[in-house]
Amino acid sequence: MKVLVLNCGSSSIKYQFIDTVEKTALAKGLVERIGMSSAVLSHSRYDGDTIKIVGEILDHQIAVEYVLGVMLSKNHGVIDNKNDIEAVGHRVVHGGETFTGSVLITDEVIQVLQDNIELAPLHNPPNLKGIQAVKRILPDTPQVGVFDTAFHTKMPPKAFLYGIPYELYKKYKIRKYGFHGTSHLYVSNKAAEMLGKKIEDLKIVTAHLGNGCSMAAIDKGISVDTTMGFTPLEGLLMGTRSGDLDPSLILYIMGKEGLSLNEAGTLLNKHSGLIGISGESSDMREIQKAMSEGHKRSTYAFDIFSYRIKKYLGAYAAAMGGLDTFIFTGGIGENSAEVREEVCKNLEFLGIELDLEKNRNKDLIISTDNSKVKVLRIPTNEELVIAMDTSHIVEEIQVKAN
Ligand code: AMP
Repeated sequence: MKVLVLNCGSSSIKYQFIDTVEKTALAKGLVERIGMSSAVLSHSRYDGDTIKIVGEILDHQIAVEYVLGVMLSKNHGVIDNKNDIEAVGHRVVHGGETFTGSVLITDEVIQVLQDNIELAPLHNPPNLKGIQAVKRILPDTPQVGVFDTAFHTKMPPKAFLYGIPYELYKKYKIRKYGFHGTSHLYVSNKAAEMLGKKIEDLKIVTAHLGNGCSMAAIDKGISVDTTMGFTPLEGLLMGTRSGDLDPSLILYIMGKEGLSLNEAGTLLNKHSGLIGISGESSDMREIQKAMSEGHKRSTYAFDIFSYRIKKYLGAYAAAMGGLDTFIFTGGIGENSAEVREEVCKNLEFLGIELDLEKNRNKDLIISTDNSKVKVLRIPTNEELVIAMDTSHIVEEIQVKAN
């Protein structure tokens, strides 16, 4: 099946057109600066052909029309007809407690997503805009929602409940949800495949380290704990997000600096993490460069970043009662040998022995042959998971209908 995968953000749409039989992307691209006068669409085809279009793209519907236009274009396109897009799969950030797996998007599903907006005010509205745009432009094409939260919905209450009055969970659905589920699911299954093991026989810790960062404890293929929480702010240090902190300190800062709720949210989400500590950059490449030039605050940022990952790794090994596999993924996890080395340092007692040469060489298996715990570096592919889930759901419905 040929599936268009859409990841709609507030001012951008990332897309891939995927052949789920060959498991390859026929085309991929990005629309940026939606709503601004000089929006840009960058499109590339499987054969290396690329094109950039600059124009006025005022909303998500126009952006999707542009994407279809370039996919249909004689010179740069990959389809002859709109109907060649057999289904559309959407990355949806928050499925709440309702969606424990991917679903065909119906009017009822759209209603639930609208009801969940309060849980993900930044992410679910653009996801919904993308869904509505496709509904108008391709009314007969089935759409599927694949949720970042779904993989974590089997966590036990001891992992997902916070130590606050239980009524608040019942009243406002305040609990740990976890995010990046599609990535944690993909790399854990890929690791089992690479190691020739059944996922049911493995205790895995995954570290998705990108601009946003999260880890998951995956026991027998089930996410039993994860670092992000009610929102993607909890857990690891990130590019601009603080991760874990003492909740009282934000009340203290709000009092001292006279911050509003919104300003406090911005402080924790946009001005903290790597950028907050280093004062240099939210980008790990820049942090490492500044560090090598002796910039002290960048060294603090790098150290805190790596130390938190190490702490959660130990915590999750204890939570699962063992550890077989540790996986790095995401822009930093896949590319920073320095972060991987720092995280894995002195963990021989846990059965982790990094092969420094393999790590530097960007091998996929980066532990020594004798290491009890296998350490892997796996490029994530969330779009492929979305496309595969979409095709399974749509094919199942087609079989039932016949
Ligand atoms: P992502 O959100 O997965 O695209 O990851 C973005 C992060 O990956 C940014 O912090 C980048 O600095 C980081 N990154 C990408 N390439 C490298 C690299 N070669 N070394 C260190 N960090 C990298």
